[in-house]
Amino acid sequence: MLLPVFTLKLRHKISPRMVAVGRYDGTHPCLAAATQAGKVFIHNPHTRSQHFSASRVFQSPLESDVSLLNINQAVSCLTAGVLNPELGYDALLVGTQTNLLAYDVYNNSDLFYREVTGDNVHSLALCDFDGDGKKELLVGSEDFDIRVFKEDEIVAEMTETEIITSLCPMYGSRFGYALSNGTVGVYDKTARYWRIKSKNHAMSIHAFDLNSDGVCELITGWSNGKVDARSDRTGEVIFKDNFSSAVAGVVEGDYRMDGHIQLICCSVDGEIRGYLPDTAEMRGNLMDTSVEQDLIRELSQKKQNLLLELRNYEDNAKAELSSPLNEADGHRGIIPANTKLHTALSVNLGSEAQAAHAELCISTSNDTIIRAVLIFAEGIFLGESHVVHPSIHNLSSSIRIPITPPKDVPVDLHLKTFVGYRSSTQFHVFELTRQLPRFSMYALTSPDSASEPLSYVNFIIAERAQRVFMWLNQNFLLPEDTNIQNVPFQVCFTSLRNGGQLCIKIKLSGEITINTDDIDLAGDIIQSMASFFAIEDLQVEADFPVYFEELRKVLVKVDEYHSVHQKLSADMADNSNLIRSLLVRAEDARLMRDMRTMKNRYMELYDLNKDLLNGYKIRSNNHTELLGSLKAVNQAIQRAGRLRVGKPKNQVITACRDAIRSNNINTLFRIMRVGTASS
Ligand code: CA
Ligand code: CA
Repeated sequence: MLLPVFTLKLRHKISPRMVAVGRYDGTHPCLAAATQAGKVFIHNPHTRSQHFSASRVFQSPLESDVSLLNINQAVSCLTAGVLNPELGYDALLVGTQTNLLAYDVYNNSDLFYREVTGDNVHSLALCDFDGDGKKELLVGSEDFDIRVFKEDEIVAEMTETEIITSLCPMYGSRFGYALSNGTVGVYDKTARYWRIKSKNHAMSIHAFDLNSDGVCELITGWSNGKVDARSDRTGEVIFKDNFSSAVAGVVEGDYRMDGHIQLICCSVDGEIRGYLPDTAEMRGNLMDTSVEQDLIRELSQKKQNLLLELRNYEDNAKAELSSPLNEADGHRGIIPANTKLHTALSVNLGSEAQAAHAELCISTSNDTIIRAVLIFAEGIFLGESHVVHPSIHNLSSSIRIPITPPKDVPVDLHLKTFVGYRSSTQFHVFELTRQLPRFSMYALTSPDSASEPLSYVNFIIAERAQRVFMWLNQNFLLPEDTNIQNVPFQVCFTSLRNGGQLCIKIKLSGEITINTDDIDLAGDIIQSMASFFAIEDLQVEADFPVYFEELRKVLVKVDEYHSVHQKLSADMADNSNLIRSLLVRAEDARLMRDMRTMKNRYMELYDLNKDLLNGYKIRSNNHTELLGSLKAVNQAIQRAGRLRVGKPKNQVITACRDAIRSNNINTLFRIMRVGTASS
């Protein structure tokens, strides 16, 4: 449909996602990309290349319009933008596992080079989520959540089914996202508009108005080399192209400097293609005819399907008439018109041969059999679909399907059930959707105070017992005869995943106590209740003795890692001075032709070098451990927040961060327990 307006083939490989366009001299857009062996290349087709004398940048031996920037470490992030408006040009920002470099390409100098500690964030985007004219920060994390920050506060959280690898603002409160399992889609605020899942990986997403209708499409570059543009509203593909290798990045810029912004796609093999949007004059005609043509195509497809269905019914009716009606005949395709399909969800405690699981039972209302069941569900089955196809000897009117959701999130099960007779060649397909409750992996058990977990959360809500029972019924798989009418009551569950206990107690006063050693589960239950009962703010008292003790140990370790880090950095600085002096003395000895002393100095240098290498290994291990511990601390703060709702939630997170900053461990635990720093 669209052809590239330019194609370049660079002789440098491009690392996935590490592509940025910037005007590093304030005028000419240049493409920067991370390449192999810890280097970043800058493609500058506009001006004769400068010859640099400093150490960081050198001319590519392969291409005259490409300069190389030495980073000496694998690049994990690359972007360009205005850091200092007074300079009037873009800085190049290069991130590695341990450092951030802000580089002034034009003057070939470092703006700054800082040590940084990574976190479990995989993607970031700025987007005016709540429509107040100011942008919020969207953060995609390793724990499958998209969080929306308004300054320091989390104002919304959306749970996905995999690591969020990319986020991109589209317009207004709409943004695109990509997951590590090949899913891409579009959200508007907290509502997901659409999503599609591919067996390929979405390497890069970008918003760009390719058909000039004033609305951005979601452009995705895929691991199989495909680039597609999808309608923001429907996800329908309106444009695609193919590269011969995986797409590394999708960016935009006026690369030809003719006043028109191009969509620029780069492959990992260094192929760059630029695309111009449809021109406005063409658009009027193109759009009208294509809308009509689409509609006609869609309607004739529908007509075809209906005709096919009608012919099947006619054929079946003929067969029915020509052969005597005989139950044993079995060649019928038609099922009785009153055939109904029942579905039921329950908990199966498992056996020696099979672990405990949630179970979906599908049955027909007569002697028809179920030939096959197709289930489509997000995040439960590999590839999102599951087919149950009993062998011909095991066909019956009911079928039991084990389901084991890995996380406590409600999931829609879209079912297609093929119903017919044993020797039918055609089947009636029942399509229906059942929702798997959020806490379907918990079995109701009789209360046993001996095994009641020590950890708990405690709070007060003003709800009638009947409403709490409704919440329980909607979120757990309760046996059919369960009925709770009166307060106080207590229900206990056992986790089908790890056998952990969960007890929920409600007192006459509206006080609810939830006992579980799983702090994530406690948070999930509180968030679920809050949305069911429309609670805006909820303060909660909590205690998780074992988890808090673990956290205390982690905090002690963080301190240790910090002091080891300082000591090692000081040692390294000392050693660098020593190296300098040894080198000078060795060189002096050489000039004096004192070969013995020179040799001794070099021996010392050799030993020192070994020490330095060892020191580096220790430093590097220490750093990895520190990162792991900091992640755990951050996670603990998020968890403490998730035990609360609304303002108290944000207050807990802010207060915890303050306590960490001022190194006030006891205050930290007090906040996590009672939700506030003051007594
Ligand atoms: Ca806003
Ligand atoms: Ca558009």
